[in-house]
Amino acid sequence: MTAANELVKLSAVEMAEAIKKGDTSSRELVDAHLAVIEAAEPSIKAFLKVSGDVARLQADTFDALPAEDKAQLPELAGVPIAIKDMIVTKGIETTAASKILEGWIPPYDATVIEKLKAAHMPILGKTNLDEFAQGSSTEHSAYQTTHNPWDTERVPGGSGGGSASAVAAFEAPLALGTDTGGSIRQPGSLTGTVGVKPTYGGVSRFGAIAMASSLDQIGPVSRTVLDSALLQEIIGGNDRRDSTSIPEGPRPMAAAAREGMKRDLKGLKVGLVKELSGEGFQPGVQQRFDEAVAKLKEMGAEVVEVSCPHFEYALGAYYIIMPSEVSSNLARYDGMRYGLRVMPPAGVPQTAANMMAYTREAGFGDEVKRRIILGTYALSAGYYDAWYGSAQKVRTLIINDFKKAFEQADVLVSPTSPSTAFKFGEKMDDPLAMYMNDIATIPANLAGVPAMSIPAGLSADDLALPVGIQFIAPQQRDEVMYKPAAALEAALEEQWGGPIWQSLKTPWLGE
Ligand code: GLN
Repeated sequence: MTAANELVKLSAVEMAEAIKKGDTSSRELVDAHLAVIEAAEPSIKAFLKVSGDVARLQADTFDALPAEDKAQLPELAGVPIAIKDMIVTKGIETTAASKILEGWIPPYDATVIEKLKAAHMPILGKTNLDEFAQGSSTEHSAYQTTHNPWDTERVPGGSGGGSASAVAAFEAPLALGTDTGGSIRQPGSLTGTVGVKPTYGGVSRFGAIAMASSLDQIGPVSRTVLDSALLQEIIGGNDRRDSTSIPEGPRPMAAAAREGMKRDLKGLKVGLVKELSGEGFQPGVQQRFDEAVAKLKEMGAEVVEVSCPHFEYALGAYYIIMPSEVSSNLARYDGMRYGLRVMPPAGVPQTAANMMAYTREAGFGDEVKRRIILGTYALSAGYYDAWYGSAQKVRTLIINDFKKAFEQADVLVSPTSPSTAFKFGEKMDDPLAMYMNDIATIPANLAGVPAMSIPAGLSADDLALPVGIQFIAPQQRDEVMYKPAAALEAALEEQWGGPIWQSLKTPWLGE
């Protein structure tokens, strides 16, 4: 392995340590990752925009800081990061992978971006997604299809397939995603990376392009549990610019992850969610999940089965609530204020209403239109109580299911996704089959509780594609899931002879 390849295969924490020891610099890390991006992008296509100049400048600024200033910065200072193009970045084109925002350069930074800049973490670029984060395969991007580094004929999951693939392919050590129904965790599962959806309100949504505001949450993507913990500590915290932000102090997530690495889970009660495994889950996924649970037991955890009877209705409720909020949030893309404007052709009256219709027809893709229509219908007079009102009641039942489950267990577990990565096109003509991908991730969004996916090995079916296991913790107790996740990660490394991402074949690195 070349020195540059060795560098990009370190975890973010190891990169930060190497900077501190003087073995590398932020600039060297940025250059190494930009080189990987250049080599990998023809086959991976994770990035919509690479911001090399911005990243180099940020890295040089950090490297030039006096040692005493560096000592005040968070642990991951100087380590580069990629950003899902659903998060606005001042001066860097942000499109949400939609034609309707093509060429839009935000005049401000999202709060999470301000925090990354304050931590001196260089921004490598903006990653691909399903248009407006709507999808489970990244195939709904208006610009390109991102490939799964484990098998480039397969999807990386979605909507945050770009961030997940970038981290899996060593194009970036860290990334940010957004998770409305699973868009950080499901791609994590399909690409063998760690993905976290924090407690709703734990990370500011200011500057996250709105999909479904009561469900959206920004969170970390990384290759290790500790890296995500440290990143969540940097991006989290109260923000007065987000009215749903929770006023609370920092949560000890990195400490919990470090505690977990000792692999002692005595006293921890793990709840196996009965409704989130078994039938409908690919056998090779189920097998790895069962083995992971056995490992948790070996480390001293007590495993109990819990039942969440209303989870059965979670997907149905989500596909009423989410499109309702989508239809309202996406009304702002009307050709008037920013982004694309398409004037009606000659002969058609040049009215504002016609301009909006032509703009939206040209600017939105099929999946986005499908959801706007669904949401508009669900919210229309006379149907509101039957659809939106009922879905909100189901949401309360799901919150109560979680409350009861957390009376019996400290943390809940399930497979993250019912299957491993599927082939391009396999689910594009069948929206329902696509929606089923999020069967295990959606309940956490509906209830606002934190959840994360970590790799559980390669599928027992073919030993070729990653499988993810999900940990779910009570609201505002994000640290609770980090401990068993880090413990399992350490135990699995022993079983597999190292982290599974180390066994990924990386021809784009010249190996
Ligand atoms: N795949 C889900 C959907 O299509 C979740 C999307 C997301 O979390 N942004 O809605």
